[in-house]
Amino acid sequence: MGQNHNGNLSSPEYIKTSLASAVALRFKSGRFYRDAKPFCINLLLNYTDSCYANCAYCGLARSRPQNNGDKSFIRVDWPVLKTTDVIERIERYQSNIRRVCISMVTHKNAVEDTYSITKKMACYRSLPISILITPNLMNKEDLIRLRQIGADTIGIGMDAASRRVFESTRGKKVNGGLEWKKYWDILQDAVDVFGRDKISCHIMVGIGETDYELCKIFFKLRKYGALIHLFSFYPEPDSSMSTRKRPSLKRFRRIQLIRYLIENDIIKEKHLSCNEKGKISKLSIYNDIINNVVESGRPFITGGCEGKNGDMGCNRPFGSYRPGESFRDFPFHPETEDIVRIKKESRLEEI
Ligand code: SF4
Repeated sequence: MGQNHNGNLSSPEYIKTSLASAVALRFKSGRFYRDAKPFCINLLLNYTDSCYANCAYCGLARSRPQNNGDKSFIRVDWPVLKTTDVIERIERYQSNIRRVCISMVTHKNAVEDTYSITKKMACYRSLPISILITPNLMNKEDLIRLRQIGADTIGIGMDAASRRVFESTRGKKVNGGLEWKKYWDILQDAVDVFGRDKISCHIMVGIGETDYELCKIFFKLRKYGALIHLFSFYPEPDSSMSTRKRPSLKRFRRIQLIRYLIENDIIKEKHLSCNEKGKISKLSIYNDIINNVVESGRPFITGGCEGKNGDMGCNRPFGSYRPGESFRDFPFHPETEDIVRIKKESRLEEI
């Protein structure tokens, strides 16, 4: 009947779905602001003793108050559902779905449970599957096995832009137990196993890093062959960073633009200058190039793993912002009026 031996709704028999995915699969009712439907079904392993790590900004952190089973994540509830029911709905609604993403948490059963769920998903349908891994639990053989059973993309939630920020938000300073070096080792292994541009690295803006640190890690990830998916920090209630301010929209827009320029080899390190506080102070390329890139809207689209035919796959609507406010990243191609607004928000002429 699916419940585990102690009656808890744990993986692999049960799994959490993002609220947007639960709506897309008709487990919940709801409508999306500006019709920003999710193209990817985001799933998260579920354990009553939750995640052993202690990231300062995360709703699932070990030291965050509340019963673990009730912890929210990215400020919304993640309904817990029977894995077989989720798979059945994915099959039923697959014409609207472009990708499935299974996110691990730091738990002793997470690797084996991820295999068993991925295997079931891969047997029943033909959608591409991403696995958002926890590097400290994995080795290269695990990655090879994941590829063999049907995953085509690996996500790595590095989140911090530098070792300094990593230590203060996820590592020793918060008794988190995660290791910066291990993240880079597994990233290299993942590129070896899955190939260049098949690894997505999540980086968060606004958790204490400088622009200089962001630019540095963007160039480094480009060199490794990983894609960069940006997130804008949004404080999680009751987490250690619950009172920290979000990055300004102006800063986030500029970082989105710089990420795009670096990932598409439009600029090199010599084109960027930062001041003594680590803030970007000069971008030495022609204004026409910047204007064309901004006009295209592409830097501001949600960074996510691609869909079945190379189209936009994971678009995570409202991951970093609330419906009604400016889209921090766009889960669809920005429209003309969006571009006008983006230009005002970023005030690029001030760089
Ligand atoms: S971009 Fe989306 S699909 Fe890809 S790893 Fe991140 S959350 Fe998963």
